Amino acid sequence: MTFKKLDPEVLEQLKAAVTCKVVAGADVAEEYSHDEMPSAGTGMPDAVVVAASTEDVSAACRVLYENDIPIIPRGAGTGLAGGCAPICGGVVIDTSKMDQILSWDLDNLIVRVQPGVYLHDLAAAAVEKGTMYPPDPGEVYSCLGGNVSTNAGGMRAVKYGTTREYVKAMTVVLPDGRVVRFGAETAKNSSGYSLQHLMVGSEGTLGIITEISLKIIPQPKFTVSLLGVFEDLPSCIRCVSTVKLSGLDPQALEFMPRTNIDMAEAFTGKQVYPHEAEGVEAGAYLLTTFECNSDAQLDELMESAAEVLLEGGALDVVVYDTPEGIRNAFAARRACPEAILEGYEHVEECDIVVPITAIADIVEYAKSIEKEVGLDIHTYGHAGDGNVHMKICANNMDEAEFRRRSQNFLDLVYGRGKGLGAMVSGEHGIGSASIDRLAEYSGEDVMELMRGIKAVFDPKGLLNPGKVCKKA
Ligand SMILES: Cc1cc2nc3c(=O)[nH]c(=O)nc-3n(C[C@H](O)[C@H](O)[C@H](O)COP(=O)(O)OP(=O)(O)OC[C@H]3O[C@@H](n4cnc5c(N)ncnc54)[C@H](O)[C@@H]3O)c2cc1C
Repeated sequence: MTFKKLDPEVLEQLKAAVTCKVVAGADVAEEYSHDEMPSAGTGMPDAVVVAASTEDVSAACRVLYENDIPIIPRGAGTGLAGGCAPICGGVVIDTSKMDQILSWDLDNLIVRVQPGVYLHDLAAAAVEKGTMYPPDPGEVYSCLGGNVSTNAGGMRAVKYGTTREYVKAMTVVLPDGRVVRFGAETAKNSSGYSLQHLMVGSEGTLGIITEISLKIIPQPKFTVSLLGVFEDLPSCIRCVSTVKLSGLDPQALEFMPRTNIDMAEAFTGKQVYPHEAEGVEAGAYLLTTFECNSDAQLDELMESAAEVLLEGGALDVVVYDTPEGIRNAFAARRACPEAILEGYEHVEECDIVVPITAIADIVEYAKSIEKEVGLDIHTYGHAGDGNVHMKICANNMDEAEFRRRSQNFLDLVYGRGKGLGAMVSGEHGIGSASIDRLAEYSGEDVMELMRGIKAVFDPKGLLNPGKVCKKA
């Protein structure tokens, strides 16, 4: 397929077809050329359609599809895999201004939203209604359409699973402009292929999501967070399975090496975690959250959780039992990736996910090859679900040399991961960043099925080209 450029005539057709703003040419802001990981791919779009409705998205797609112009769906642009980067040119459909919470059905525990609603806003509104929307990716100013399209995970995935578990139904605009509805707001559904689930994690390559029905749950009544302070990273990581097997069912289980916390505290200008315990310098931290339904259970829970952490090797345990304390403890964790992105000129991301039993292996392996590859490796992340984030970093290095070294590191880590039952991405998606690695991990038969599915939704291959699976 040869992609066409948006010429003045088609631009006029596009403007006439929609009721929303269309920005073209030199007026397009540079930020539309990439997401939060520009190293995964960049490209300026010919125009941006700032969609206000399903009808706008549909009308825009009809014109663009007819004229062989690539269509790139976009939410807040906070992705870390190059998913919304227009690497083949074309027109971005920005869904971030479709930002209304449409309705609450508290009897059936369903909320209907437009795709541009920020996760932050839905989470806060859910709490006000006495409910909870469990998915909790670190970037709260990402859009729900983006979260669904990447199957975003986050800190509560260890207990509640990822975004996929909360998607009941959705409205989707197919690349040729047809509007379809997938799924249902029923408690269960065995009615044919589960197309709404196929859309989850499809990274804007199958259709554009313009409305989503999400499951919410009753809010847990009491939560408490405990921070285990460890002498070093290996002892911290080894404690993860102790907590998992304790039966206390943690809501969150995040690990952070001290070096990351130093960077995060320098970034936020605030020290939250202790730097030593029992006269020993802290080397790593395990941040946990637990829930219960009564005040009486809370004390027992705190005691048991502290015991588990201490028996698992923690030097000391800090308890955060106020909303502000919990917020601050997690703000330090959330600042880890941002602090790294701020502190380095070159940053590459690895979002490998391994079985729980292999977490210590992959983390220790990554750290052990730091010198060999000649780069700074920062590991932190969702220890409880095996999703180990690795930031591969360097300063004062030639771009080509950084690429060469980071690819070497990724080859080594993914090579090790294969033997451990790993998958390429735990939550950020494939985008353009890991497209070759997906093929390598999945094998030709699986890739052929993926390409077949893509061809049914998008026979011309115009929707977000160069992402997830390439044409053979
Ligand atoms: C500091 C930081 C921390 C993060 N922490 C986490 C984390 O803990 N867990 C996690 O999972 N991710 C995390 N992320 C990554 C990112 O926030 C998520 O991938 C998020 O889901 C992307 O949402 P977005 O709205 O920014 O989507 P975008 O970046 O705009 O797009 C992402 C993908 O979704 C597609 N897309 C967007 N909207 C639509 C739509 N309406 N219809 C169809 N396709 C669409 C795009 O084409 C693209 O392929 C983090 C990012 C940062 C910068």
